[in-house]
Amino acid sequence: TAKRAHAGVAAYDPDQDQNDANKLTMQSDLRQGVSRGELVLYYQPKIDMATGQPSGMEALLRWQHPQLGLLAPDRFIPMAEETGLIDLITTEVLDMALRQVREWYDAGRALRVSVNVAARSLFDVTFPEQVVAALERYDVPPELLTLEITETALIADPERANLVLERLRAHGVDISIDDFGTGYSSIAHLRAMPPHELKIDRSFVMRMCTDARDETIVRAVVELAKGLNLRVVAEGVEDAGAFEALSALGCDEAQGYHISRPLPPAELAAWLETVHEN
Ligand code: C2E
Ligand code: CA
Ligand code: CA
Ligand code: CA
Repeated sequence: TAKRAHAGVAAYDPDQDQNDANKLTMQSDLRQGVSRGELVLYYQPKIDMATGQPSGMEALLRWQHPQLGLLAPDRFIPMAEETGLIDLITTEVLDMALRQVREWYDAGRALRVSVNVAARSLFDVTFPEQVVAALERYDVPPELLTLEITETALIADPERANLVLERLRAHGVDISIDDFGTGYSSIAHLRAMPPHELKIDRSFVMRMCTDARDETIVRAVVELAKGLNLRVVAEGVEDAGAFEALSALGCDEAQGYHISRPLPPAELAAWLETVHEN
């Protein structure tokens, strides 16, 4: 900023200034947006490869911005993580997702929901209580909730993260390692704190039919999961070729554009009707 330039620390950079200003506006917009109910969840179905039936949904956040329209999470989650606003957002997302699970349940569908959890929640010892409170609020059985965490989250403070994860497990909530294969020392984490599920990163899945190395990696992760008795999910399944290949490898569940894009609840209900008929 101009102040920094005065202090002789950094040269004046109008682009940076513009960025800082945008960030500040965005931050207060987001805070307001949360309280005005502008955050919405889309749901992307996962298919159980053994039965061909939907097994659960991943809740994916969108921000219905009054001026900018529907914003994808990469437009605002990183900023929310930097500023700590993500804690409020996570609470909101858990509430919305479990309210939805209750609605499905009441309509006769026991569908699991996966919620993405930012790294800092794993360092918050009150997080497990928040999760339990949300489950109780909608009287949802804990086995219908899966929390997706990334390996990166386990690195900063593994002891505290393991404590939080242990409490969540004790309450019956499933843990999934998201983007598996893209973090660090993945395999050591599996020994220290075994999750219930591995989610193979879409970068491997998307190329598995055209790149032999990616196919080998996917195969190895499926084998690893099976050997450790973990559920294994492939994300980024974009075509029938990948779907068939994963099925042949014995992957448990598939998620991706080949099955469905993330959908708002009303469209998801229509989609569920169509698969039910097949
Ligand atoms: P992710 O957890 O890896 O989510 C999967 C992303 O892949 C989603 O993007 C989804 O729309 C996209 N995707 C699904 N199927 C396909 C496919 O077949 N091909 C391709 N190329 N992409 C596919 P989205 O919805 O933009 O979410 C991006 C990221 O934002 C998520 O990555 C997740 O890390 C984060 N995110 C989303 N919702 C939340 C949330 O509620 N809380 C937190 N902390 N993070 C969230
Ligand atoms: Ca995820
Ligand atoms: Ca992922
Ligand atoms: Ca990701």
